[in-house]
Amino acid sequence: MAKTIVLADPRGFCAGVDRAILTVRTILKAAADRPAGGADLPPVYVRRQIVHNRHVVEDLAAQGAVFVQELDEIPDEAAAAGVPVVFSAHGVSPAVKAEAERRGLNVVDATCPLVGKVHREVLRFARAGYEIVYIGHDGHDEAVGVVGESPEHVHLIEHAGDVDRLDFAPGTKLVLLTQTTLSVDETAGTIAALKARFPWIEEPPASDICYATSNRQAAVKLVAERSDAVVIVGSANSSNSVRLMEVAAEALAGRGRAHRVDDASELDPAWFEGVRTVGVSSGASVPEALVAGVVAALQDRGFEETVTVGTVREDMHFVLPRM
Ligand code: SF4
Repeated sequence: MAKTIVLADPRGFCAGVDRAILTVRTILKAAADRPAGGADLPPVYVRRQIVHNRHVVEDLAAQGAVFVQELDEIPDEAAAAGVPVVFSAHGVSPAVKAEAERRGLNVVDATCPLVGKVHREVLRFARAGYEIVYIGHDGHDEAVGVVGESPEHVHLIEHAGDVDRLDFAPGTKLVLLTQTTLSVDETAGTIAALKARFPWIEEPPASDICYATSNRQAAVKLVAERSDAVVIVGSANSSNSVRLMEVAAEALAGRGRAHRVDDASELDPAWFEGVRTVGVSSGASVPEALVAGVVAALQDRGFEETVTVGTVREDMHFVLPRM
């Protein structure tokens, strides 16, 4: 029997990642056509990783984009020259926006509109007198930005086990919001624990876990159910890639293991000993070329057949931010 690769569809780039990368590329192209700023200034700065993928960041850096952790790494002469500063798809806190304004930086905000929606929910509920329980990953850029909208009213928890440390008096107006890239199943458990402890807690009209996260998790679950091992292409700091690996591991149900790699060079031949069917998917920040590299490497190891397991067709697009 031929050894088989089962590809998940959808996988890879989501609309928010596509938009953020295209934003930087558009600025780089405009700068190449018409050099701006002083001779020593770069064409564009990007605060933090534009998306959580090492290859994407390295590729844009090679084209001239300069990545900074914080705005104070950007020199005053770049601010004076109007060199664009792009905010990443994960969003920023109001403190970062205020700092950019104080410095007179030329900001291009590539925050994904679906992350922006959660920011607006925080503001709306905080103004209406709610305490907000936010399920997210402590320290992740997206969570830092959302909590920063109202630090005194947003209570971050990661797992169901964290619910016990929350304490709200009966009658406290409560709502729960979530990071966009969580595991749908794990979050359901956390929400159940919250509802058991605070039965009056409200939810927003639509889930904050975004369409791309849900679709990729549903697809990888089907793939894992047909596989003896799963490879997820994505970086270690990519929340949705790591969640895909966890969802795949759960769906494999002990029949095999799920692995995460940045690219084909990280594949370990030992993972595929005795494996007849290997599932492959990729996080929302992963270029398809990296998946193609993994598929080619698996084909070299004798996985000659490739089938695709599809769930839904995605047709989400976002317009580029003002620049
Ligand atoms: S994963 Fe979802 S929220 Fe995050 S950038 Fe993509 S579409 Fe936006």
